[in-house]
Amino acid sequence: MTIALYNTMSRKIEPLETIQPGRVGMYCCGPTVYNFAHIGNMRTYIFEDILRRSLEAAGYAVLHVMNITDVGHLTSDADEGEDKMILAMRREGKTAHDIADFYTDAFMRHAQALNILRPHECPRATDHIGDMIDMIRRLEEKGLAYSAGGNVYYDIARFTDYGKLAGTDRESLRAGARIEVDRNKRSPHDFALWFTQSKFEDQEMTWESPWGRGYPGWHIECSAMSMCYLGEQFDIHCGGIDHVPVHHTNEIAQSEGATGQSPWVKTWLHGEFLVTDSAKMSKSSGEFTTIDTLIERGYDPLAYRYLCLGGHYRQQLGFSYEALDGAANGLESLRRIVLNLKQKAGAPTAPAADHPRLREFQGHLADDLNMPRALATVWTTLKEPIPDSEKLGLVYAFDAIMGLDLDALEEKERAGEVPSEVMERVAKRAEARNARDWAEADRLRDEIAALGYTVKDTPDGAQVSAI
Ligand code: AMP
Ligand code: ZN
Repeated sequence: MTIALYNTMSRKIEPLETIQPGRVGMYCCGPTVYNFAHIGNMRTYIFEDILRRSLEAAGYAVLHVMNITDVGHLTSDADEGEDKMILAMRREGKTAHDIADFYTDAFMRHAQALNILRPHECPRATDHIGDMIDMIRRLEEKGLAYSAGGNVYYDIARFTDYGKLAGTDRESLRAGARIEVDRNKRSPHDFALWFTQSKFEDQEMTWESPWGRGYPGWHIECSAMSMCYLGEQFDIHCGGIDHVPVHHTNEIAQSEGATGQSPWVKTWLHGEFLVTDSAKMSKSSGEFTTIDTLIERGYDPLAYRYLCLGGHYRQQLGFSYEALDGAANGLESLRRIVLNLKQKAGAPTAPAADHPRLREFQGHLADDLNMPRALATVWTTLKEPIPDSEKLGLVYAFDAIMGLDLDALEEKERAGEVPSEVMERVAKRAEARNARDWAEADRLRDEIAALGYTVKDTPDGAQVSAI
């Protein structure tokens, strides 16, 4: 099945064409590890995970690379503000290394809780400073970079295609210029490749370079690291929609400028934002919702994943706790149905590759990752008059892409994770039965049922399972 994806560059849905048949090199801009990722950030990583799983299910060998930005990302995506890592060092009184480790671990933990497959490579910016310096040198040799006031800047006037991703030309950029004036820059939209002079005297993360001791700009990190793992041209580059006008625009200018080859990346995919009616999605405001917030409030992180799967990645998704409750109920119902099917059907029957429902599900994903439609196919399939084992096999095939752990209920119960309030009543019921107090035993059985569990008396004792 041909996979078609919306390419931000061409502004069209196009059949995926890869450089090497059957292989996809995919780069995703990763987290800046100066704080926890918020659930909006995680929406973008969930969309990228669905993309990777869909490609793998379609038979592609995917090489998935995601960077960890542990230096150079200023508080604005343009060259303004302070380095986010340095701000965090001051806030938390720790070294940059400790902060990066702490928030990288937190990010990986959250991603795992959301069943996001770990990228094959997660390079840290601070491990690739040499590659960045090499690329800046190449840009200098080609006359695309200039030194001024101690810093090295990219000269956007020398790159004819500047702004092609966002569809902006230099004139409209100039008209919309709103950024802080840096007197060293020839044009306000030139951007720093290397800083030796910053406004911040206490910049602690610095490296030797041909231009003096300093640190890299943020955009050069992604150009250098993606090429290091995926080659000078590769298939797919993803990120959130906010990266189109500045970060990805600048990445293209650097990469195509350095190699002279175009296109650097064949297909650009951007995920729309998760939005709330409050300011809870802004890290700079200091208060935002993370996966830990959801866990503390008693939600399964996969309920959040389910919520995300219900919206198309190219549309904004509104977040509210009411919507999350709805998603949690939907997920719970799916898992109950699966448990029920397992109890009735036993083993699943793997669907044939051309099973109409499987084709339909895959067809929706192949149509620019239409996950909401694919999810509707899941529900339709569950209502169909087909054998339970066939249904179960289909659901497992769907879940390989959805990543919702639809088996979770049984696993929990097998692992003895029956809630303590149920277990207390099971114990009291056993006491009542020993005392031959049948009325009390029946009352407790009803209470257990009201909590969603049944209890069966066997020669080995009471066996508890979810209804
Ligand atoms: P950052 O750590 O700020 O570089 O962001 C990590 C990723 O999350 C990037 O791909 C951003 O484009 C994306 N992102 C930021 N805010 C949101 C949001 N509210 N909804 C979805 N994605 C977002
Ligand atoms: Zn990037």
